[in-house]
Amino acid sequence: MPRPPRWCPPTSDAQPAAAAVLYPSCPEDIASLLRASCMHPSPFPVSARGCGHSTRGQASAPRGVVVDMLSLGCQAGGSATHLSVSVDGRYVDAGGEQLWVDVLRAALAHGLTPRSWTDYLHLTVGGTLSNAGISGQAFRHGPQISNVQELDVITGLGEIVTCSKEKHADLFDAVLGGLGQFGVITRARIPLIPAPARARWMRLFYTGAAALTGDQERLIGVDLGTAVSGFMDYVEGSVVLADQGQVGSWRSSFFSETALAEEAGGVLYCLEGALYYGGAALAGESDVDKDDLVKLAPNKVERATEETDWTMTGNSRC
Ligand SMILES: Cc1cc2nc3c(=O)[nH]c(=O)nc-3n(C[C@H](O)[C@H](O)[C@H](O)COP(=O)(O)OP(=O)(O)OC[C@H]3O[C@@H](n4cnc5c(N)ncnc54)[C@H](O)[C@@H]3O)c2cc1C
Repeated sequence: MPRPPRWCPPTSDAQPAAAAVLYPSCPEDIASLLRASCMHPSPFPVSARGCGHSTRGQASAPRGVVVDMLSLGCQAGGSATHLSVSVDGRYVDAGGEQLWVDVLRAALAHGLTPRSWTDYLHLTVGGTLSNAGISGQAFRHGPQISNVQELDVITGLGEIVTCSKEKHADLFDAVLGGLGQFGVITRARIPLIPAPARARWMRLFYTGAAALTGDQERLIGVDLGTAVSGFMDYVEGSVVLADQGQVGSWRSSFFSETALAEEAGGVLYCLEGALYYGGAALAGESDVDKDDLVKLAPNKVERATEETDWTMTGNSRC
């Protein structure tokens, strides 16, 4: 059988390719490029590229120059020079090219963690801070862009500016969530908190969307003032389609998702939640009562629940 081509022919809505790629050794290389574009009679587009995981060529620069941010982390001295936890443990300074998984590892080495995450951690700090950075902690702490103290940014004029809520606040606010349009992030200062030692994780299935969202609202309603509201540290939801083979991929040993999906007409709704416990942050707290935890979500299908405990180490959940 002939092998399929390894490239896709351009489609009618494909944008023109970039003319060049810059592999910077240091932020000054990027500043020089932006100054060169600025001074050019017809300035060319410049776009930072982290892992390139955003959609529809967002990290590309049609007929311009793409800046390969990852090459900043490959310079002499290794990534350690671009990831440094402060002596007092209040924050980590991370290069814009660093992966969140490496930020996590660096922080956990000190028993610390950032507050807000993405699910998938092989994304760059600059890439997610240019979007939002959302995961199951956002209901409590906000997205990643709400958890930044300070940035080093290279502006469109090629200036290297340190900004924060107090200093050059307009630039700070524009760059966070700015889709790479207001400057290149070369350093972000991320506040840290003590990491929990353990997490109790659970997954609950529902046969209707209203039942799922009812339980989600109960769990994330931190201002509701009930015993349940804000009890969880992480809450997410997803839809599982039986006919796309996703149901079987859960591989639960506790119950048959396939049978459940058939009963539910081919669609299942899933609530994923976690409660952190133990460790310096939560010293003295008693162990989590499993029964109490499951009672927090009354709408679930009773026979379709799954729970497990995770120990948070530098190697787990990465
Ligand atoms: C498998 C997968 C799982 C995902 N999971 C989540 C998730 O759980 N939560 C979530 O919020 N998102 C998620 N995303 C989306 C992801 O956050 C965005 O696509 C993010 O932009 C990707 O980061 P990146 O490093 O690949 O950035 P890129 O795609 O390279 O760049 C994204 C944008 O940021 C700009 N940019 C990149 N680096 C910089 C910089 N240093 N300074 C300024 N601008 C810059 C680019 O020009 C571009 O506009 C996921 C994506 C994938 C592929």
